[in-house]
Amino acid sequence: MTDKYQDEFTEGEENGKKDTHEPEKFCSLCHRSEHVAGKLIDLPNHIHICSDCMQKSFDMMNQQMNNGNLNYSDLFHMPGISMIDLTGLQNQMAQPKKKAEEKREKQQEPVLDLKKIPAPHKIKATLDEYVIGQEYAKKVMSVAVYNHYKRVATDTMDEIEIEKSNMLMIGPTGCGKTYLVKTLAKLLDVPLAIADATSLTEAGYIGDDIESVVSKLLAAADNDVSKAEHGIIFIDEIDKIAKKKNTNQRDVSGEAVQQGLLKLLEGSEVEVPVGANSKNAMVPLTTVNTKNILFICGGAFPDLENIIKERLNKQASIGFYADLKDKYDNDPHLLEKVTVEDLRAFGMIPEFIGRLPIIFTLNGLTEDMLVKILREPKNAILKQYQKLLALDEVKLEFDEGALHAIAAKALEKNTGARALRAILEEYMLDIMYEIPKDDSIGQVIITREYIEGTGGPQILLRGQEVPLLETAYQG
Ligand code: ADP
Repeated sequence: MTDKYQDEFTEGEENGKKDTHEPEKFCSLCHRSEHVAGKLIDLPNHIHICSDCMQKSFDMMNQQMNNGNLNYSDLFHMPGISMIDLTGLQNQMAQPKKKAEEKREKQQEPVLDLKKIPAPHKIKATLDEYVIGQEYAKKVMSVAVYNHYKRVATDTMDEIEIEKSNMLMIGPTGCGKTYLVKTLAKLLDVPLAIADATSLTEAGYIGDDIESVVSKLLAAADNDVSKAEHGIIFIDEIDKIAKKKNTNQRDVSGEAVQQGLLKLLEGSEVEVPVGANSKNAMVPLTTVNTKNILFICGGAFPDLENIIKERLNKQASIGFYADLKDKYDNDPHLLEKVTVEDLRAFGMIPEFIGRLPIIFTLNGLTEDMLVKILREPKNAILKQYQKLLALDEVKLEFDEGALHAIAAKALEKNTGARALRAILEEYMLDIMYEIPKDDSIGQVIITREYIEGTGGPQILLRGQEVPLLETAYQG
């Protein structure tokens, strides 16, 4: 045998071997071979199906089901048909591609798209769903945030440079300052860091460095610097870093912190540790530019009202109005009359206030507002309890009197809406403990008497439930 024949022979032999070990598969429905129809799906009993036939079968079944000729359960009762769940298999085959596509889309997406920034009225409408009252604050913030992100997205650095919209919120504790900022950040899908001004001190002293607020933001952005550079930093209790009066010592947690914050508010490059709160030799550093970070400061500014009143009275004592000295004593809108001079008198340094161009006040919450907070926002506390009890198939309702009694109790605590949850928790504890014990209970109505301690809640058995009270929450 010549070499040529020998080669042909061995090749044929090898081919033959392959054939005997792996016979070609054919689709059991369309009878096309695997190399024509593509990879076949193997089913039990040596059945192989190509993806085209598989798809056709699914389409047919779906059509039959939509026409009402076939139930999903029928499939299992057909003689000779054993079902295996192929949808999972199909999904598995499809998923990696989808994920890769999603990733690619994400990568292509710019960090901020001007067209995607909701218009101020839309921002306010979303805030309305969560935050009760504070109409003026919501309006100011919506416009400020819109302008800020417009400025960031267009990145105009020509001769008309748009100023940064850093804000200062003034309002009593628990009136929704933090909540407003949190809702905004969630709506805009930007990272948010919440810092407490009382914990900040001048570098080198005990306490957090001023730059730690930027590290917090970086952590909130999962260490993604470009994301952090478009985030929001909320500094609470800003009134606590007012200049200390009559002190000879160095004011490391007051005026010095205000001074230290200036360059951050203005926009500067800050070196911050990645994945840690303080700089040390073991932690890598990265540079974050604060130029496009939106700073919002908030505080209760106690005594500010007296300063405003004093100024107004001084003005009033000149000439004509000299006789109206106590005109402002019970003015509920006194805080709204705040000026930059008043804040300076309070102890904020002019450079600091100058970098917070948008100053606005929030109102203290009234009893009616507290009642609304209990039941109206999208994730209102009452809705949460109602949902919890609904899982046990028990209807929970509060009569109007009960809601006002809870709100009145919260007002007494002087911590705004913060007291509401604690008060409710106290009254709901017994209910949440007792109800699951008894399957026959269908409805619980919390009454004013129960909240005021002169009676109990109204409990109704299944089948005896009364329709929803006209005044109660109907969500
Ligand atoms: P502060 O003004 O002291 O920052 P918060 O924003 O932290 O107060 O308010 C505490 C809680 O009270 C919030 O988490 C929120 O649930 C509720 N709350 C306060 N004000 C309002 C409001 N105007 N509308 C709805 N919920 C509010």
